[in-house]
Amino acid sequence: MLYFRVLKREPMKKYQHIFFDLDRTLWDFDTNSRASIDYLIDKYDLEKKGVPSKDEFWDLYTEINNGLWDKYRKGTIRKAELKVLRYELVLRRFGIFNKEMAEIFGREYLEVLPTKNSVFPGTHELLEYLKPKYPMHIITNGFEEVQEKKMELAGLNSFFNVVITSEAAGVRKPDEGIFRYAMEQTGAEPESSLMIGDDLPVDILGAKDFGMDQIYFNPQRLIHSENITYEVETLLEIKNIL
Ligand SMILES: [Mg+2]
Repeated sequence: MLYFRVLKREPMKKYQHIFFDLDRTLWDFDTNSRASIDYLIDKYDLEKKGVPSKDEFWDLYTEINNGLWDKYRKGTIRKAELKVLRYELVLRRFGIFNKEMAEIFGREYLEVLPTKNSVFPGTHELLEYLKPKYPMHIITNGFEEVQEKKMELAGLNSFFNVVITSEAAGVRKPDEGIFRYAMEQTGAEPESSLMIGDDLPVDILGAKDFGMDQIYFNPQRLIHSENITYEVETLLEIKNIL
């Protein structure tokens, strides 16, 4: 398989501050999202109302949700519409024409999701290892209230000094404004800071453009040709770097 990996640089640089992305880097968004959907299917007994199985619901939901997110990014649909429409369209395909149910699903999904607490393998071991060595912080594009709840319930709060959200910064990664805001909030300097994240254009190239070193967490081994500082497939490989 064609796979580009950046090997450990020597001599190793001593970082003063480590910044982590949250969703899909530590907090397992996809597992938690699936668990939330499954919970709601059971709660509203949808398998007795026309939904053939949780797997089929999930596959269709993923397809429809991705399509609607594309439209949202292009500005042809509003976020409030997306939140309900993704369920309305899925339910309709299973013969359930019930807008009220879609609205309930849309609302309760967002309430249940942050209470799910799956994290990627090695999350707590890595954070325990890093905690005595570096001040650590989060930079996330999620909403403040939801991210706080996710971190608390997944046992992540005690590892991080400052949680920087796009909501508080006023701009989202990869905008350099959020990285500048993170420096102000933590007293860090870009040249002695490191960003760890799963999204190449958003976390990694955003941090790189701002002058920070980066670790690209790439568990799916996505192929790319970017020149980045480090790349890992598992979180625990980061112990060999830091
Ligand atoms: Mg992420």
